[in-house]
Amino acid sequence: MTSPNGHSAAELFERAPYALTYNDIILMPGYIDFAPADVDLSTRLTRNISLRRPLVSSPMDTVTEHRMAISLALQGGIGVIHYNCTIDEQVAQVRKVRRFENGFILDPLVLSPEHTIADIHRIKQQHGFSGIPITEDGTLKTKLVGMVTNRDVDFENDRSRKLAEVMTRDLVTAKKGITLVEANELLRHSKKGKLPVVDGQGRLVALTSRRDLRKNRDFPDATKDEGKNLMVGAAISTKDEDRDRMAALADAGVSVVVIDSAQGDNIYQHDMIKWIKKHHPQVQVIGGNIVTAEQAENLIKAGADALRIGMGPGSICTTQEIMAVGRSQGTAVYYAARAAKKHGVPVIADGGISVIGQIMKALALGASTVMCGSLFAGTEESPGDYVYRDGVRLKVYRGMASLDAMKAGGNKRYFTENKDIKVAQGVSGYVQDRGNMVDLVSYLSQGLRLALQDAGVRSVAALHEASESGKLRFELRSPSAQREGGVHDLYSYTQPDAFSNQRNS
Ligand code: GDP
Ligand code: GDP
Ligand code: 5GP
Repeated sequence: MTSPNGHSAAELFERAPYALTYNDIILMPGYIDFAPADVDLSTRLTRNISLRRPLVSSPMDTVTEHRMAISLALQGGIGVIHYNCTIDEQVAQVRKVRRFENGFILDPLVLSPEHTIADIHRIKQQHGFSGIPITEDGTLKTKLVGMVTNRDVDFENDRSRKLAEVMTRDLVTAKKGITLVEANELLRHSKKGKLPVVDGQGRLVALTSRRDLRKNRDFPDATKDEGKNLMVGAAISTKDEDRDRMAALADAGVSVVVIDSAQGDNIYQHDMIKWIKKHHPQVQVIGGNIVTAEQAENLIKAGADALRIGMGPGSICTTQEIMAVGRSQGTAVYYAARAAKKHGVPVIADGGISVIGQIMKALALGASTVMCGSLFAGTEESPGDYVYRDGVRLKVYRGMASLDAMKAGGNKRYFTENKDIKVAQGVSGYVQDRGNMVDLVSYLSQGLRLALQDAGVRSVAALHEASESGKLRFELRSPSAQREGGVHDLYSYTQPDAFSNQRNS
């Protein structure tokens, strides 16, 4: 069946003879009376967390560690740190993201006058900054007596010199109780790089940094909490030891956790969500993965603040073939999003995203964000080094249930009782170099604005409304329509390398 102006999402999905993928559907154009720049890409990640871009990076060990999470958060998305590592390693990753940008730095690294220039170099190497307040005994308990910055030490060859000899003693400081706006004003006027904040006894209580003002100016869409720290997510599983992991992550200031499971509607996850909501109520919890309305209801009842949708669409994933359980992603997102919407819970379309059009379709079907693995895995910010194969620059990308990742400790996502017999549900492979995340996110954002404009809607919220009311129209695409919609009948062609998902042919 066709109709003059296409169908509503309900007509299409509820009457289709089989479940649909993104590629099976297409959106009808809407009426445009605004510019792409007017399109607002703000959305919700969970009940309480808003994002300026609908982009989330997968908790996979070839996708998200601190560099990915920092870059995405600066640009308005969020990264979820993988847990194919020890608790300490994961916590260190979370802390790095949180420390990257600050309002008041409440636990600044300090040294004493007896420390040496070598200690400053060590901190610079480990943490990336060198503006160190000096207190009498090198802790926050005693008086602030000076400050050492790069400029005090950069031409100094003798690394054994004591900081007492090089530190600046005449400091501009602020009094405890000062607001961030006032502190920033003082920083600007003093033209110094740092402004220490001290209490009545002259003890350091916080530090503010000029660099953070610049970061705030350069990345106005950043995903930050009230303390102006970048937000970051982390994945956990439902094993008993993950309660310790959860506690450590909460202590490190994680904003949101993703309970990572291929089939999330299970008693362990229900219990884990309830436990987190009871013991760490400040942390948002994303449940999943699920693909049906009933599963969505169940996890929301347990207390989930958002749901992760997808069983089998991932580029590295073999679940649907091996397990014979799963669902085509378009239909999964449609039904899960509708069920979650009744409770005000946003959903994340997880997996199977390789081009902007698929992000647009996921959002049009009711997802509030998309989670990407392969799309981000080839960037400079993902873990791992580039390699060359046949002259092409590549990075390893592997499923967390691939044999490789499981060997490295990653079979936590799947229920495995017998450690000797491993049934892989994913593969390990390579993705092509995609340049850096700043360029990629700018490209995806601008592409999405244009896609929303074509559909005649000005925001993600308006897209959702139009989808639910039936104003937004869809159509099915036959296999030949899909061929027609791709490049065809050329002798050869090239795509902009970094952002194409296909090899040039
Ligand atoms: P904004 O919309 O991100 O600027 O956030 P607010 O409107 O809440 O900003 C309040 C004040 O905090 C302004 O003076 C901002 O310049 C400042 N501010 C925002 N982010 C940061 C940050 O990361 N570090 C510092 N030091 N100041 C910030
Ligand atoms: P500098 O080398 O100390 O001058 O460092 P920059 O000013 O280049 O960078 C400071 C950046 O590191 C800011 O974004 C700070 O918020 C961040 N940062 C995080 N924790 C600390 C800390 O304990 N001390 C200092 N100095 N900066 C920190
Ligand atoms: P992609 O963006 O590459 O299409 O898909 C990424 C998603 O695939 C992840 O967010 C996760 O949900 C899923 N995934 C990651 N590793 C595996 C795996 O080994 N097996 C399966 N079935 N899914 C995986």
